[in-house]
Amino acid sequence: MLSVVIPTYNESLSLEPLHKELAEIAAANDYDMEIIFVDDGSIDDSWQVIERLAAKDSRVRGVRFRRNFGKSAALSAGVSHASGVLVVTLDADLQDDPHEIPHFLAALGDKYDLVSGWKRLRHDPWNKVIPSRVFNAMVSWLTGVELHDHNCGMKCYRREIFDEISLYGEMHRFIPALAAARGFRIGEIEIKHRPRRFGQSKFGVSRIVKGFLDLLTVKFLTAFGQRPQHILGSIGLLAFVIGAGIMTVLAGYWLVSRIPVFGLAPIQLHERPALLYSVALLLMGGQFLSVGILGELFISYHRPERRSYSISEKIGVDSSPKEEKS
Ligand code: UDP
Ligand code: MG
Repeated sequence: MLSVVIPTYNESLSLEPLHKELAEIAAANDYDMEIIFVDDGSIDDSWQVIERLAAKDSRVRGVRFRRNFGKSAALSAGVSHASGVLVVTLDADLQDDPHEIPHFLAALGDKYDLVSGWKRLRHDPWNKVIPSRVFNAMVSWLTGVELHDHNCGMKCYRREIFDEISLYGEMHRFIPALAAARGFRIGEIEIKHRPRRFGQSKFGVSRIVKGFLDLLTVKFLTAFGQRPQHILGSIGLLAFVIGAGIMTVLAGYWLVSRIPVFGLAPIQLHERPALLYSVALLLMGGQFLSVGILGELFISYHRPERRSYSISEKIGVDSSPKEEKS
């Protein structure tokens, strides 16, 4: 069975045409498909449209958040209510073409665990396309997962990927990087992208700063998540050793210059700027080392986090979802 998961935030006008396209594709390819709309706290009548669709098509399921929790939470809730072995996610705004679904399934085959879309020809404004290029290059470089379009909303997954990565905040941008870090095989196909027909984009300029900060977090989590002391401790040790080195030289000179036989001009330590640097480095080294120890302590007592969203209603999905059993 194939589960199509659609995060939906104020997209009421797009939902019916999207459902129609999906139904056509399911019929044409003979797919056993369920369509899960996750209403991420829409304030338009998206939920009413989902209810209507569910009433006339038993393959449609719905999950409604009490308020807007963000795309990551919506994807996470959708996937945890999915019963398919394979999951396709796509945006609700009709920008992703459902006709690509057969291509995704063909590409996934036995070869990959996740196939990500690449909107080679993008129908978005330049102020979205250019930052996105830079972002993709940075993510590929820092995480080693070479994709042209990490944040493409349309992707195909083996469901078990989501048992292992937790999507919170805006981490949906890094699903391929997070999955690859756990050993899943990642592929990419080119897909057709369409301009937005109804409503407007939900992500503004602030996503550039947030995306960059999240990238630092992802790099840290994937590279040092299990051993924070390896990076923090390395920085701390380096700072400490340099600081201690400078301090030793200064103290040594101070001592030796006070012994007349060596004939050195006596120095006053407080007149040496190097003293300040050395003290700063020593303090910094101590700080990094102790934060690293805190990180290690935290990991060794780590408990699985609680859900980051709250659901108000459901249609046609299991009442005791997998996430609540864990
Ligand atoms: N979305 C969501 N919650 C949010 C923001 C967006 O579920 O808080 C959904 C939105 O309805 C759409 C998808 O995520 O289906 C992508 O959003 P959008 O089209 O605004 O992003 P863009 O294509 O402009 O990057
Ligand atoms: Mg869009």
